[in-house]
Amino acid sequence: MVPLAEPTPLPAAAAAGPARAERVRALVSVHDLMPASMPAVHATLALLERLQVAPVTLLVVPGAGWDRAGIATLRTLEAAGYRLAGHGWQHRVTRIRGAYHRLHSLLLSRRVAEHLALDADAILGLLARCQAWFGDQGLRPPTLYVPPAWALGAVPRQWLGAAGPFPLYEVFRGVIAAPGGQLQTIPLLGYEADRALRVPAIRLWNAVNRRRAAAQGLVRIAIHPQDPSLRLGADLRADLARYRHRIDYADLLPAPAGAASGSSSSR
Ligand SMILES: [Zn+2]
Repeated sequence: MVPLAEPTPLPAAAAAGPARAERVRALVSVHDLMPASMPAVHATLALLERLQVAPVTLLVVPGAGWDRAGIATLRTLEAAGYRLAGHGWQHRVTRIRGAYHRLHSLLLSRRVAEHLALDADAILGLLARCQAWFGDQGLRPPTLYVPPAWALGAVPRQWLGAAGPFPLYEVFRGVIAAPGGQLQTIPLLGYEADRALRVPAIRLWNAVNRRRAAAQGLVRIAIHPQDPSLRLGADLRADLARYRHRIDYADLLPAPAGAASGSSSSR
């Protein structure tokens, strides 16, 4: 494991208090499973297993060049109890389309928000291709789709119920349940501090979102493969220790009549 670049003795997260944090249900995901990122993914999953974090959803990029051994690894992870989710197709854009995309790219997504370069029909095509890929590889069809950089792009969310192949979509503000396209806003914590400049902005963002999580009883913990060894690695560990009531994204689906909702005990 890479040592922490900047250990944080007392993360700001401590302010939320253990009693309130206990009541907050947490959705934990690891982003960007691609062949090139798998060494970092494995290190991150080893950390999550040591900390007994489960369930964990893994965001897989289907068009990133998986070979047979890589697919076998995904099957092994699925068999071990990890949930797989769709995450774009290539996770990169070949062109920037329009002023909004240019700004988003500059401020937030750099060049990964591939939906922003597409029109609605092309996005629906990408969603269908992504969903079908999992079945083609002998993997379970995912419940969840997360567009790269959480940017859904030009497809109206009301369309997703009729034309989108996934039951749930995660966007920047929360999670959309496809049947009616309702958005449930859910606070989001992130740790992608690959540059020192990003640290204060992300810390402030996370502090605001921990307060929102305490009020709302729900939080998303979004981990990128390198995060544990970056500058906010200690903040990530503190949040994983703080939010111990973890649930699966599928728990956000409307429960069938008579079924209990709540936490999952397995990963
Ligand atoms: Zn991503």
